[in-house]
Amino acid sequence: MKDLHSIQHLIEAFEELPSIGRKSATRLALSLAKDKFKALKLINAIEEVVTNVKTCEVCGNFSEHEICNICDDPNRDKMLAIVESPKDIMLIEESGSYHGYYFVLSHLDDEHIQKLRDIIKNKKIKEIIFAFPPSVESEARSLYLEDKLKDLNVEFSQIAQGVPTGVHFENVDMNSLAKAIKLRFKMNS
Ligand SMILES: [Zn+2]
Repeated sequence: MKDLHSIQHLIEAFEELPSIGRKSATRLALSLAKDKFKALKLINAIEEVVTNVKTCEVCGNFSEHEICNICDDPNRDKMLAIVESPKDIMLIEESGSYHGYYFVLSHLDDEHIQKLRDIIKNKKIKEIIFAFPPSVESEARSLYLEDKLKDLNVEFSQIAQGVPTGVHFENVDMNSLAKAIKLRFKMNS
């Protein structure tokens, strides 16, 4: 494939994406080499995402505005689900089982904890739900956060069974995720 450097580059770029192996990357690259219109459409869509999508200053969700639609909505329930990534917000929203606010905890540092405290105060949050995929680390992180936030007079709960230990949300069906949120249990502190 000496004269096919460009296709080789594209295959390598696809391979860096999550859940795309060598075979799929090759298939995608060849299909785009064949259909220039499809390729340009993809370039356009990617460019739009790169230009328009940013991180919400309040919760860390993806948004096309400084503040996302969820944070901007005053009619949401006074609950805050703490999640690991914006992808989890999409999944929980799709499950339709929750109508509160969110916070993406990408790092467990003082800056994030301060942001978390600000959103709890500003939105007058009454209940915090730790919506992490169940694991020993999640448990430890929830307890640590509970300790850091307990002076704010909020209740703490954790998503319930239905989400098996060690399995990420994207691999759990919508009904189980919805059930896990509805059947969340209060944490004893
Ligand atoms: Zn937001």
